[in-house]
Formats: sequence, structure tokens, C-alpha cells
Amino acid sequence: RPRVLSGIQPTADSFHFGNYLGALRQWVDLQEDYQPFFFIADLHAITVEQDPKVLRERCLRAAAQLLAMGIDPARSAIFIQSQVPAHAQLGWVLQCLTGFGEARRMTQFKDKSAKNGEGAASVGLFTYPVLQAADILLYRPHFVPVGEDQRQHLELTRDLAQRFNHRYKKTFRLPEPYILKATAKIADLQDPTSKMSKSASSPAGIVEMLDDPRASAKKIRSAVTDSGSEIRFDTEEKPGVSNLLTIYSALTGSPVTELEEAFAGRGYGDLKKELAEVVVDFVTPFRERTLELLDDQAYLSDVLRRGAEQAHAVADATLRDVYQRVGFVAAG
Ligand code: ATP
Ligand code: MG
Repeated sequence: RPRVLSGIQPTADSFHFGNYLGALRQWVDLQEDYQPFFFIADLHAITVEQDPKVLRERCLRAAAQLLAMGIDPARSAIFIQSQVPAHAQLGWVLQCLTGFGEARRMTQFKDKSAKNGEGAASVGLFTYPVLQAADILLYRPHFVPVGEDQRQHLELTRDLAQRFNHRYKKTFRLPEPYILKATAKIADLQDPTSKMSKSASSPAGIVEMLDDPRASAKKIRSAVTDSGSEIRFDTEEKPGVSNLLTIYSALTGSPVTELEEAFAGRGYGDLKKELAEVVVDFVTPFRERTLELLDDQAYLSDVLRRGAEQAHAVADATLRDVYQRVGFVAAG
């Protein structure tokens, strides 16, 4: 079966609706027809400072959430990035193939370093898209399910793959991004022109999957809406309302045009109240399932151990090819 690969950073206690609707839900769906590799990106997490104890805990919470949302370890390899050293090893080789100016053009570095200034950002944060290219290329996937914010990194990944293939020998498959337009960029509830983000959103702007459902309902009801009163999908004029319609539509399966009809003549308050109920119904069982899984640490570590074994088998083989082609002497 063709492969898919994607990762998520353990940079918060909980994933949020942007992660879920933008990426993770596609992970679950793609299990049907593909051979998936999904990893928890702890190497990426340390590009900004992390408390070691918290990081370790968040990795396990991430694994529990992935299982709770429907990732099936019988079909998908779920693993922790740092347990497969080939990621860091290929990352180095690719860094040596990346132009400094090319890395500089990555807008996510500009965004993420803007707050404290570039000088305060780590070199790891600067080169993280190159490590991400290694994460992907090691598994030779056909598709990489991600949100819109990762599109530029996928382009870099393809460029690096092509460069390596051209300079040495065809080694890597050029992966395609798998980005669903409707949910590719879920916005911050308080700042609907920015994306909802684990590390950049204010607590009120982000709906966390593991929040107390009542708190999530309250956040939805307090979401920033737009001037006017008509409930209409228009990302230019009405980014706040459009975002709520997007989330509503994605969670219920009702097309946005049907929602517009259903809410015709009604106010923003009605939309928020109904969406809050939809969200509560969705997160309540998810949260229970995650907490149950977190109680079963033996099961979690078994899943992660098996996932790492499957990842090793594929990644180590690719890295061997790369090392040989680059001209490294094989250990005797
Ligand atoms: P951080 O702020 O630490 O970067 P994040 O919220 O951006 O966290 P990531 O772990 O970087 O989350 O990304 C995991 C996946 O979720 C990626 O595929 C990313 O494209 C997707 N994603 C993140 N935020 C959104 C969003 N607001 N809308 C759609 N997809 C998103
Ligand atoms: Mg991110």
C-alpha cells in the first residue's frame, strides 16, 4: 500500500481544533487505503524551550489523543521521533544541501521568531523545516496530510528531495501535500485572521480537545464575530463567522451553504450557542477515551514501542542508502 506520513508537536497538554480538523482527522481517514507513519515530533518541540518533565508527559498525552481519535495501531505506526535517530541523521545531511537563503525564506521562522526577535531564536528553530524534510523523506510517502501552514515546508521538502536525487542518485520520492481546502486553516477564535496555534494563540482563542467541555462551550460563545448581523460565509468580510461555520460544518457534515440557509434571519448568538453544543457533544467522549488511555501506560508504551520498530525498519534502510550515496564509509 502507498504510504502516508505526518507528525505533530507535543507543545501543549492538548491538541486543538485546528490540529484536528486541519490534519489529524485526515490521518484517521487515510488509514483505510494507505500505510501510515505518524509521529510525535519531540525533536521539533525543543526548538523552543521545554520543561523536560512536561515534555515527557505531553508526548504520552499526544499518543493517547491520537489513539482516542481513531488512529489504529494495527494499521498505523505511531512513534516518538527521538526514538528513531535516522531523523536527526538524515536531517544533518539535508542541512548540508540547503542554502542559507533558502532556509531564510521560510515564513514560519519569521512568524515564530517575531515575538522575541530573531537573535533570541534558536538555530534549531531556523533549521527545523529541514529536519521536517528528513522526517518525511525517510519514509518515501506519497502523501503528507497537514494544514495550510505547512505547504511551504512541503515545497522545500520536494526541492531537497529533487536536489539529492539529481546530485547523487534517485533515492527519494517527491511527496505531495494532502491539504483539505475547507479546513486547512482554522482561525483563532479571538483573532480570526490568525491561525489557531498551540504556542501562539491566547487561551481564549484556542479550543482544546481536552479542555473541560464547559470551558470550550464558553470559548465558542465568546468568539469574536464580525460587524453586521447576517450569518454568511465570507472570509474577507466575515472571518470570525466564517471560521465558526467552517468548524460547524466540519463537525456535523452539513455543507456550509445549508448552514447559511438554516441560520437565515437568525443572529450570531444562535450560531454560537448551537456550535457550542456541537463541540461539547464531540469533545466529551473524546476526552473520556483519552483519559482512560492515559491510565493504561503499559498499553501506550507497547504501542509506541511497536511503532518505533516499524519506523526503524523503513527509516534505517533509507538512511543506509543515503550514507552510501553521499560517500560515507560503512562501519566494518
Ligand atoms: P505550534 O504553535 O507549537 O507550532 P501548532 O498548533 O501549529 O503548534 P503543530 O504541531 O505545529 O501544531 O502542527 C500539527 C498539524 O496541525 C500540522 O499539520 C499543522 O499544519 C496543523 N495545524 C496547526 N494549526 C492549524 C490550524 N489552525 N488550522 C489547520 N491546521 C493546523
Ligand atoms: Mg505549528
